[in-house]
Amino acid sequence: MPPTDVHIKASIERTGKEYKEVHEWIDLDPEKKAERHDITKIYEYGKMFEEKYGKEGLQEYIQHIHDDVKTKFEHVQHDLEKAIAETLAYFGVK
Ligand SMILES: [Zn+2]
Repeated sequence: MPPTDVHIKASIERTGKEYKEVHEWIDLDPEKKAERHDITKIYEYGKMFEEKYGKEGLQEYIQHIHDDVKTKFEHVQHDLEKAIAETLAYFGVK
């Protein structure tokens, strides 16, 4: 998943604002990090962010989760392709 400063940079590019508190809240507490990335909590946490930062802040929270999902699956895909290539090479399959 992208580090917090990558999320902040992306928010600046999209909105002109950092939304640093949003990204730090999601990422920086190791004990709550998984819970705060849980997509079943989007309604609950989304309401909280909308009340505090408006619709744009809500959207930046959702975008953070989206960007993490995308990055995580890109890593999974890369690792899987590497494992398949290594396994085929091991057995001499071309
Ligand atoms: Zn994150």
